[in-house]
Amino acid sequence: MPWGAPAQLTVPRSATLEDVERVLADRRSWIEKQRQRQVPRLGLERLAVTESDGRKRAREIVSALAEREAGRLGVAYRRIRIGGQRTLWGSCSARGTLSFNWRLVLAPPEVVDYVVVHELCHLLVPNHSQPFWSLVERHRPGWREQRAWLREYGPELLAFSPVSTVRR
Ligand SMILES: [Zn+2]
Repeated sequence: MPWGAPAQLTVPRSATLEDVERVLADRRSWIEKQRQRQVPRLGLERLAVTESDGRKRAREIVSALAEREAGRLGVAYRRIRIGGQRTLWGSCSARGTLSFNWRLVLAPPEVVDYVVVHELCHLLVPNHSQPFWSLVERHRPGWREQRAWLREYGPELLAFSPVSTVRR
C-alpha cells in the first residue's frame, strides 16, 4: 500500500459484515498506529518540483559530494546514476556505478551527505558488515542520526510525486 494511501482490507468473498467488523476491531490499534506514522510532516505537498528539475539538481548535488568525498576516502567510482526507485536511496554496483534516488534533493543536506558517503564506503566494503559500519563511523560519526531521519521520514519522501506540468 503506498504511503499515505487509505488503509485497505482484503477479505474473502464469503466473509460476512460481522467477520469484517471483527478483523477491523482486532486490528484497530495497529491501523491507527500506522496512520499516525503517515501524516505528512515534511510539507512536501507545497513543493512545485518537477521530476526533471529534481533529477538535474540531484545530479549536481550528489556529483559534487561524491567527487569531494571519494578523494577523502581514497576510492574511485565509475559513474553516477540518478534513479527514481520508490524503495531505495542509493546503491553501489560491483562495477563502481553509484545510484542515487533523485528525491534525496528534498532531504536535509546532512542526510544527502550521509547517503553519498555510505555508498562510497561500499566501494571498499560491499556489504553491511562490522568493518563497513566502522568505516562509515570513522568518516561520519553522526551517521546514526541521519539513518534515523531516513527511517522516520524516508517513506514520506519516497512517496513524493512531482508536479507533472512542464515549466516554460
Ligand atoms: Zn548500504
